[in-house]
Amino acid sequence: MRLLVVEDEQKTGEYLQQGLSEAGFMVSLAHNGLDGHHLAMTEAFDLIILDVMLPDVDGWRILQSLRDAEKQTPVLFLTARDSIEDRVKGLELGADDYLVKPFAFAELLARVRTLLRRGSSPVQTDQLVVADLILDIPKRRAQRGGKKIQLSQKEFALLELLVRRQCEVLPRSLIASQVWDMNFDSDTNVIDVAIRRLRAKIDDDFSPKLIHTVRGMGYKLDMEDGDD
Ligand code: CA
Repeated sequence: MRLLVVEDEQKTGEYLQQGLSEAGFMVSLAHNGLDGHHLAMTEAFDLIILDVMLPDVDGWRILQSLRDAEKQTPVLFLTARDSIEDRVKGLELGADDYLVKPFAFAELLARVRTLLRRGSSPVQTDQLVVADLILDIPKRRAQRGGKKIQLSQKEFALLELLVRRQCEVLPRSLIASQVWDMNFDSDTNVIDVAIRRLRAKIDDDFSPKLIHTVRGMGYKLDMEDGDD
C-alpha cells in the first residue's frame, strides 16, 4: 500500500513516515504543498494524509485539484483545530476523514486502516455493537444502554481493539503495541490503569460485564461472565 504524507513540519512528517513505514506501508513524504500537489496529481497512492496548513499550496487546494481531476484517492486531512468550518469545508471538498492535531499515532493508524479497508470494499462498518454497547467508529463515540459515554482517545482506541477482537485474550504487550504504539516490557501498569478506567465507564453501571481479566494472560471482551 502506497501512502503520501504532505506535512511541512519536518519532525511531524518524519515521525509519520517512520511510523507508517514500520506499520508496513510504503510512504512518500512531501515537505511542502507544491511537491505534495505534484506527487498527488502524478503518482498513484492508496491514501493521502494531508496537512491543511501548508505555507505555499494549502491542503484545501490539493484536495480540490484531486477531486476536480476526478481522482478518488481517499484523503485523511490533518487540522490544527477542531473547527466546524474546517470540517465542513474538508468534507465538502471530498475529504474522507480528518484528525485534529495533536493526535496519537495509534489513532492515525486506525483511521488509515479503516479508510483503506473502505476503499477496497463497499461494505462500511461504521458501528461496532456488543450487547448494548455501540461504538461509532467515524465519530469516535461510544454509548451503552443508550447512555453516551465520554472516552479519551486512548480509551476509545483500547475499547475498539477489545471489541474488534472480542472473545480473544489480548496480552498486555499486544495492547501496548496496538493502542500506545509502544512496547511495554515491564511497565504494564499503564494498561491496567487504562483498563480500570474503561471498566468504570462502560461496565460499572451496566450488565453484563464486558471486560474480563484473564489471570496471568491479559484481558478480553466477552458478553459471557466467567474468568474474572
Ligand atoms: Ca502545517
